[in-house]
Amino acid sequence: MAVYKCNACGGTFTDPQGAFRYFHVCPPLSVNELIALHDAGQSTGDPLLDADILMAKGPKSADPLQPSQADQAAARLAVAGVKRAGHVNTNVTPAPPRAKDDPQPGPLSAGAGVTQIGA
Ligand SMILES: [Zn+2]
Repeated sequence: MAVYKCNACGGTFTDPQGAFRYFHVCPPLSVNELIALHDAGQSTGDPLLDADILMAKGPKSADPLQPSQADQAAARLAVAGVKRAGHVNTNVTPAPPRAKDDPQPGPLSAGAGVTQIGA
């Protein structure tokens, strides 16, 4: 078992976990992370998402049954699945049978990579 830290999201994990391999995938950006990136002058590249980020900074409703426009925009952003810079996905592509000298299949998205931080 070794301990790793993701260079993109900062998440830590062990691999293997018991008898099972662990394949890390970065979570999508949270609403607060999206707002922080927007405040830092970064665009998502999608004008509709950028508009929702602006709208999500507005006043929140105290009544959950009557969400404000900011609440509705935040709800849309929460499920938008915006990937962070350097997104890592260590799952591997399924590979057809091949010659024994072929290299092992690589991660779906190496992204910023992971760093081993423990044995
Ligand atoms: Zn990650």
